[in-house]
Amino acid sequence: MLFFDNASTTKVDKDIMNDLAMINDKYYYNPGGLYEGGRDSRAQLEHCRWEMLYNMCAEEDYDLVYTGSATEANNLALRGFVKKNTRKILVSMGEHPSVYNTAMELKQQGYNVVFVNLNKSGCVDEDDFREKMTSDVDLISIMHVSNETGAINDISSLVNIAKSVNSKVVFHCDGVQAFGKLQYTLPDLGVDMYTISAHKLHGFKGVGALYVKKGIKLKPIIFGGGQEGGLRAGTENIMGIFSLSKAMFIAQGDWHKNYPHVEKLKEKFIELLSKTNLKFVIHSSGNCSPYVVSISFLGCRAETVLNMLNDIGIYVGNGSACSSRNSGNRILENMGVSKPEVESNIRISFSKYNTLEEVEELVQGLIKVVNQYLSKIV
Ligand code: PLP
Repeated sequence: MLFFDNASTTKVDKDIMNDLAMINDKYYYNPGGLYEGGRDSRAQLEHCRWEMLYNMCAEEDYDLVYTGSATEANNLALRGFVKKNTRKILVSMGEHPSVYNTAMELKQQGYNVVFVNLNKSGCVDEDDFREKMTSDVDLISIMHVSNETGAINDISSLVNIAKSVNSKVVFHCDGVQAFGKLQYTLPDLGVDMYTISAHKLHGFKGVGALYVKKGIKLKPIIFGGGQEGGLRAGTENIMGIFSLSKAMFIAQGDWHKNYPHVEKLKEKFIELLSKTNLKFVIHSSGNCSPYVVSISFLGCRAETVLNMLNDIGIYVGNGSACSSRNSGNRILENMGVSKPEVESNIRISFSKYNTLEEVEELVQGLIKVVNQYLSKIV
């Protein structure tokens, strides 16, 4: 089986798996326990937190809140921030449903939520952003890298534009598809809140985190035992948190070999496809992460292609896995992609574990499936 849907999730790193028995033996205690085992488990949690802050050069200016997923971290950033007197919220049209649908919910509740359009490359349209960025904007949420196309937003530039209009505006960024794949620090970006997810970078599913600049006041969206400084109740997921912290450490250390490797995979994929008779359009060009390729095979319905590839042992994605059952594609449509291209759009996403040989097999598989599909409908 060949896995090319790594933007939806990734395989847990072997080094993380190797440490699990040790973590389970030493730190299975409830970190709220007052006995020694509880205190040791708490110390392990705090050590992971410190490492994650340190890795992003964020230990001076930010706190970090552990959450049950990036979806929850995004909810906390938006719903935890808004107050009765929040005047205007800017959100990009390219956001993952965990931000977009939260923003829609806030709009329903009566908040003034304004959506910023994307340009043809899938990045936030800077002219539209400048126009909508008025001095009454209190909160912005714009993602770092698109899970659909890999488009990279120039976050530090958007932060500068926003803060020059309202120095007090709070800028949240969903960094789920950027973290561990691009190289940056939080001070480089200048954001106020930043979301990450473990399972997108070879950690466990069901754990995320929100970096929050010191001084920003959030209110909890989950109530209970007061964990995480009262911001996220629920016994902390020590295994998951350990996996996130270690995944981040591994990704930072291996960036210099992983990034060029994945760049080569994308280049090879496009080079080999270009030599075939297949008619395709790529929606991941310009300033894009090499980890994601959004591509349409003209005349072929995405879902059928996906199923046919599945039958020959190749897994690819169709847009965000969380929203793959929705019809249409809000993001591609906002970029101005035509309906036939939207309907035939699939997403190939790589990880460090994919090889050049696998990419060759993927292209062979696509030739077979697309030609078979088209020959049936002629
Ligand atoms: N944000 C982006 C950009 C994503 O790609 C995803 C997952 O697809 C999420 C948020 C949600 O992550 P999680 O599965 O941890 O809730």
